[in-house]
Amino acid sequence: MKLSFKHVYKIFLDVIFPSRCIICRSFFNGDRFPDLFRIEKTDLTKISFHEVMGRFLCPDCLHNFSKVESPKCTVCGFMFKSRQGEDHVCGKCIKNPLKYRKARAYGLYDRALRTSIHRLKYHQKTYLAEPLGLLLFSTFINNWKPEDIHVIIPTPLHNGRLKKRGFNQTFQLIKNWPEWLKESGLDSFHVMIDQDILFRKRKTKAQVGMGQKERIANIKGVFEVRNRAKIASKNILLIDDVLTTGATANECAKTLLKNGAGNIDVLTLAHTERHII
Ligand SMILES: [Zn+2]
Ligand SMILES: [Zn+2]
Repeated sequence: MKLSFKHVYKIFLDVIFPSRCIICRSFFNGDRFPDLFRIEKTDLTKISFHEVMGRFLCPDCLHNFSKVESPKCTVCGFMFKSRQGEDHVCGKCIKNPLKYRKARAYGLYDRALRTSIHRLKYHQKTYLAEPLGLLLFSTFINNWKPEDIHVIIPTPLHNGRLKKRGFNQTFQLIKNWPEWLKESGLDSFHVMIDQDILFRKRKTKAQVGMGQKERIANIKGVFEVRNRAKIASKNILLIDDVLTTGATANECAKTLLKNGAGNIDVLTLAHTERHII
C-alpha cells in the first residue's frame, strides 16, 4: 500500500494527539483534515451530520443524533408521531395560528446536537460555530427559494448577556453565509444579515423548565425594532439555535410584523423532541 504524506501525517497526529470527543471526552481517530469545508466541492443539500461533526464527536456519540424528517407540520416544522403520509398543517397550528409562515430545524435537540450547541454557547467552543453553521446553511438552502428571503436576523441577546458571553451564538452560526453562497454558486440569494434591526429591551429569566404559558408571559413585549425602514414589506428569516415552544420566535415575529415587515420565517439548528398528531 502506498501512503501519501497526508496519510502518514494523519497517523502521526492520531498517535501523538488523538481527537477527543466533545461529548463523552473519549479519544478517537477522527478526520482532522478540513477538506470538508471546501464548499465548492461539496453538495450542501446532502451534507450529513456524520460528515460535518465526525471531527468532533466519537462514532458512538455521532449516533445519538436524529434529523428532522417528513412527515412534519408545514407550519411549525415539528414531526408527526405517525411516520407515514405527507407533510401537512398540524392541529395545534390550525387552532392557534402562529405569527410566522413556517419554521424549519435541522435536527432534534437530542444528545449529540444539544451537547454540541451547549459546548458552543456555554463553554466558549467557538470553533463549533462553523460546522454547526454549515448544517444550518444546508437546511436553509433545502427549504427556501432565493426570492423568498430579503433579510436574515439572528435572534438578539440582551446586551448584558451578550457582554457576559462575549458573542451571539446565533450570529456566529450565520456569519459565513454570504461567503458560502458565493462559493457554492448560489449568488442569487441576495441575503443581507442584519443585527441592527431587532433588539431586546430588557433581560428575561432563563426559560429552561418553563411551560408554554410562562414562556409567553416571560417574553411578552421584550423586543423592539430600531430600523423600521429596513424591514418595510420585506420577507425576514429569523435565526435561532433552538426552537422549544416557539414563544420567543413568535414574539419576535409579532414585533417585526407590527413594525411593517412582510412575512416572517424561522430557521433553527434544532427543535425539541415534540411529536405532534
Ligand atoms: Zn463520544
Ligand atoms: Zn404545526
